[in-house]
This record gives sequence, C-alpha cells and structure tokens, in this order.
Amino acid sequence: MNKNILILRNVRMNGELHDLTIDEDAGIMTAIGQTNEKALPTARIRTEDACGLHYMPAMTDKHIHLDKHFLGEPWKPLQPFVTLPGQLAFEKAMLTSLPTNALERARRMLLLLLSQGTTSIRTHVDIDPVIGLAHLEGLLQAKSEFAGRMDIEIVAFPQQGLLRSGSIPILKEAMRAGADYVGGVDPAGLDQRVDASLEAMFEVATEFGAGVDMHLHDPGHLGLYTIGRFADLAEEAGLAGRAAVSHAYCLGQINEAKQDRIADKLRASGVAIITSVPIDRPMPPVGRLLDASVDVFVGCDNILDAWSPFGNGDLLARGSRLAEKEGWIVDEDLLRVAPLIGAAALTPKPGDAASFLLVPAMNPMHAIASAPPREAVYTRGRLVGGRWHEDRTRARSASGTEHSLS
Ligand SMILES: [Zn+2]
Repeated sequence: MNKNILILRNVRMNGELHDLTIDEDAGIMTAIGQTNEKALPTARIRTEDACGLHYMPAMTDKHIHLDKHFLGEPWKPLQPFVTLPGQLAFEKAMLTSLPTNALERARRMLLLLLSQGTTSIRTHVDIDPVIGLAHLEGLLQAKSEFAGRMDIEIVAFPQQGLLRSGSIPILKEAMRAGADYVGGVDPAGLDQRVDASLEAMFEVATEFGAGVDMHLHDPGHLGLYTIGRFADLAEEAGLAGRAAVSHAYCLGQINEAKQDRIADKLRASGVAIITSVPIDRPMPPVGRLLDASVDVFVGCDNILDAWSPFGNGDLLARGSRLAEKEGWIVDEDLLRVAPLIGAAALTPKPGDAASFLLVPAMNPMHAIASAPPREAVYTRGRLVGGRWHEDRTRARSASGTEHSLS
C-alpha cells in the first residue's frame, strides 16, 4: 500500500531552513533536512511550503479542567470570592444550570487546546458523592474520541474536599473506572485535617498503583508543612516522578532559606510543582526550584468558569507570562520555559511523533517571548489547528465537503 507522505519545505529551526518529511499514516517525522523524493517511490507525496515559519514542539498542559468551563455558553457574571465553601456552592449551582454535559464541554475545550498547539494534557475532573462519576465518564469518553490527537491523563479531583465531602469511596470508584491520578485539595483549608487528608490520598494511590496530584492553595507555613508531609508520603509510597503539588502559592510566601530547604526535599522525593503562573497572588519561585533540579510544569488551569473569567487555553502565552514574571530576558533564561510547556525537544529527530507548531518567529526565544499566532498545528502528522487549518476548513465548507473534526 502506498504511504501518504507530507514534505514541509522551508521550516525554520536552529537558524536554518529544513525540509520536514512526515509519514502521515504512522504520524511520525521520517527525515529532517533535504528530501530526495525519488527515494520514496511507493509513496503518495504532497509538498507544502512553510515559507520560513519556525518549528516549535507541541505542548503539554499539566493542569487544566475540561468539565467546568462555560465555553460556548452565554456570558455568566461571576460573584466576588468571599469564602471557599461559599464559592464551592456557587460553582455547583452554576454547573447544574448548564445545558451541556461534561462530554460536550470536554470536546469544546479539547478542540480549543488543539487549535493552539497543546496535544497532551493532565486534566482534573470533579468527583464527589453528589455528581458521582458523571463528569469522569464524560471525560473517559472524550479521551477515547480524541485518541491519536490528544494524550489525556485524568486526575480524580474531590473538589469539595476529600474528607469534608466524604469522597473517599467515590475516589476509589473513579480509580477503578479509569482515572490515572488521585487528586486532593487543601488538606488544611478544606478538610481541616492535614495528616489524615494526605494519608488518605496516598493510601488510595497505593491501593491502585496510581500517582497523586494535589491542589494546594493553603498559605504560608501551613502550606509549607503540607508540602513537607506530602513529600514524605510520596517517598514512602515510592512515587518519585508520579507525585505533584499544583499551585503551591505558599512557596512564594516564605523566605529564600526555607524555599531552598523545601526545594531539596522536593527534588529528593521526586515531587513536581505545577503552576498556572498566577499574577494576582504569590507563586512558587520557579527559577529557584529549577536551579535546585525540582521538576516544574505549567498549566492553564481554569478558563472561563465559576472561578475565573480569564484565560484562553494558550499555553505558549502562559509560558511567555512565566518568563516575563521571572524576569527572564536573556536567551538561556527564555529557553528555560521550553521544557516546562513542551511535549518534546526543541529540535526533532527522525522517528519522533509529528506533533508540532509552525509560528512566525525568528527562533525559539522569540516564539517564547512573543507567543505568536499559530499558523499550523500538527498532531501525529494531522493538521488540527492554526490558520492553515482554519483556511482549509473554510474552503471545504465552501465546496460542500466539510466533515466533522470533533
Ligand atoms: Zn485546578
């Protein structure tokens, strides 16, 4: 059978123009550099000119919610955040008023993320005794529908508080049903029993051989104590590389000596920090953590939901915000962002998945600093986003051959 080969000419990387040869059936890049089309005699070959657009690897969003946004809905005014229990009740009421279910909302968000170059995600899905597994089931269906385009890790997230809402049994059901990670939230602020809440998370993780990713908004030394205990339990459970604390605002509220001590502990226990790069509150000292060899990742978190009207799912813009917030202006500092948002190395090699973006930028530093529009987004050799994709969708629509991409 003839292979389908796409040759993208004049793709900029490392200051030079290259041809990218893509096996569209296998979804991988087979050659980077000049291509001899005669060496591909049994292939159906298409050639396109990237006209000097710059290559960037596809991105990984390590913290996003697919099930609770209002994308595609009429505008919903929010209320000021007064207390966490009050906010949780407000969110519950808003979600139950939506005409869509979690599957429909997940599809909308996944298409938005793909269109901007994110091809793998870790998503937190609400579970509790009232909604049960309804949201998780929608997400599992979405995961199956988007297989091959979007890699999805699912965290079972007891948004109402693991102990506070009596969610341990439903958490176990979620793990049985196919969630990948155990979630948790504010062992002090919500559950008001730090050790018991943390121990419950790790007991469930151990029972199901899963990792743990906990939301932590608890401030100052309360949060610091919680992270220390989390790291101890992760080490005891052998979860190095599979345990993460999301948000961890408290790390931005303590002095540098304490930051260094907790960074050593995080590195030793293999616990990662995941940040949405907030600009309205303290955030973890990302440069300091990286200097201490702690794993750090970035996610967009909430987008247009009961918690925040902000955000658009553009992880490249979020990485740019990180560089700006950290004051990273020299080249080597700007490049620190790349592995925090990238799903692969800046320079591909033959055999890599053909998942990448093409952007108008001089080099990766410029792309990170400017977060330019996506001209093209490919996931496993398939064009799924950017202006090229929009133009072709419009053209197909005009010729009456449009088919659903969802
Ligand atoms: Zn979150």
